[in-house]
Amino acid sequence: MTISLAIIYQELLGTYGDRGNALTISHRAKQHNISCEIIQVKPGEKIPTSCDIYLLGGGEDNAQTLATTLLMENKKDFIRAIENSQLLAICAGFQILGKHFPVSKNKFSPGLDLIDVSTQPGSPRIIGEVVSKSVIPGVGDLTGFENHAGRTLISNNSTPLGNVIKGLGNGIETNGTFVDGYFSGGIVCSYMHGPILARNPRLCDYILSKATNLDFLAMAENDDTARMLHQERLLANK
Ligand code: GLN
Repeated sequence: MTISLAIIYQELLGTYGDRGNALTISHRAKQHNISCEIIQVKPGEKIPTSCDIYLLGGGEDNAQTLATTLLMENKKDFIRAIENSQLLAICAGFQILGKHFPVSKNKFSPGLDLIDVSTQPGSPRIIGEVVSKSVIPGVGDLTGFENHAGRTLISNNSTPLGNVIKGLGNGIETNGTFVDGYFSGGIVCSYMHGPILARNPRLCDYILSKATNLDFLAMAENDDTARMLHQERLLANK
């Protein structure tokens, strides 16, 4: 079996090393004899609509605004692309999918408005380790590193990716707790860099399961290095 994965605008949304998510997916797929074709979609190029997995990473404010303009121009293709596939969007990528995000003091850029979230400016910048309890059965606790100024509000009808145990995640307190990211089956969003899939192999397995219709989460974890890294980060954040 071969799956295809598109990294969208790595040149703009690659500042925080989220390309590692593509390498992790490819690595874990290979362990099960599934090869993974990685396609780099460069700024200005059309977005292919038939990939199994799409990745949007984090980026600085100006790069994020430019990436949004380009995605707006390709919105039809992007919607078609993510209709029947998996999308992982991190930090700036997460903010871009929502209604709007701040670009400078009192100025907002419209987002793609594909998910019911919106981002406001915030201070101080949120930088540090973050841990959450994932809402996805079998995925467990997630660890990552957050580095963002934006505070993202998800609507009451939306589900976060996890409930924050350490750090601030989306950065907005609701009923005394913080949440991280957004989750709707095919769309996984988070503020966690790291990259998130290298630090959380079971989240990678969830995405692979959805992309292949094989139950990776039911398979025994056979990668000791991945499991040890996950445990080490969880222990370090206790
Ligand atoms: N520019 C955005 C913010 O600061 C996103 C940062 C990021 O992708 N790490 O909120």
